Amino acid sequence: RAKTLGRGRYEIFNATMRERVRLIQQLESDLQRALERNEFQVYYQPIVNLSNREINGFEALVRWNHPERGLVSPGDFIPIAEETGLITLLDWKVMRDACQQVYRWNENLKNRPPFVLSVNLSARQFIQANLVEQITKILNDTGLERQYLKIEMTETALLENPEGVAESISQLKSLGIGLSLDDFGTGYSSLSYLHRFSVDNLKIDLSFVRSMNSEPQSFEIVRTMIVLAHALNIYAIAEGIETPDQLNTLQHLNCPLGQGYYFSPPLPAENIKTLF
Ligand code: C2E
Ligand code: MG
Ligand code: MG
Ligand code: MG
Repeated sequence: RAKTLGRGRYEIFNATMRERVRLIQQLESDLQRALERNEFQVYYQPIVNLSNREINGFEALVRWNHPERGLVSPGDFIPIAEETGLITLLDWKVMRDACQQVYRWNENLKNRPPFVLSVNLSARQFIQANLVEQITKILNDTGLERQYLKIEMTETALLENPEGVAESISQLKSLGIGLSLDDFGTGYSSLSYLHRFSVDNLKIDLSFVRSMNSEPQSFEIVRTMIVLAHALNIYAIAEGIETPDQLNTLQHLNCPLGQGYYFSPPLPAENIKTLF
């Protein structure tokens, strides 16, 4: 796996300063071109009900199908897309494609509860004046009903401009769109945010899930997050479940939802259909 990833990578962090500047500039112009040429593809990872293993919904995760480098992971280009502002166009494109796709799945599967779609939005998006208009337009254009859309945001987004962000979020909430706090416990979390922003889901970062069965402290953190979520009447979602042991632990702790390679990696839309 390291080998196949290695080939395509923009090795920015191992480069010398001058090389680094050049690589970042190259990446920037590549990203611009990639948007024009439609090289971005949405992958979907199931979010599963841990008690009955039914698929509750999907998280949309962007991939870059680079003509020479192959599949590039978001970790390798999202930071530059954020710095240059290209993230705005990219996030809207991902949301539009994913809403359209999940709308279609829901139309074709009338005999089960509709899937819920989770979309990641960069911190930057929350201080845009037209955030709510953009999202409303995408929902109207694609037909997905607002109660089936959840927005994932990280704590960073809240920290940068809590007042401006609060306004956008309360508008989204009043439309009936859900809110998930992503990577919970890795940033400068303030527990008061959970309440203040009426968060619907708390996503337990995969670093805690990975170590909870070997490190008692991580276990306690995971346990406490799940108790906290229950107490606040919100859903805990465990990220990065890879083993049956991890699933077992989370089930014992009454964690309602989870995602991870144990169930399925993120997959292109055409491969998702075989899961349901
Ligand atoms: P995230 O939102 O926390 O997404 C979860 C990450 O965990 C994804 O990485 C997913 O592929 C990975 N993952 C899922 N299950 C497992 C597992 O069992 N084990 C391990 N080790 N990893 C697992 P990915 O797809 O590389 O995305 C990384 C981050 O990039 C995301 O973290 C999110 O912050 C960001 N991102 C992805 N797509 C978008 C997007 O469309 N817009 C924005 N703004 N950010 C995005
Ligand atoms: Mg996420
Ligand atoms: Mg996360
Ligand atoms: Mg993350």
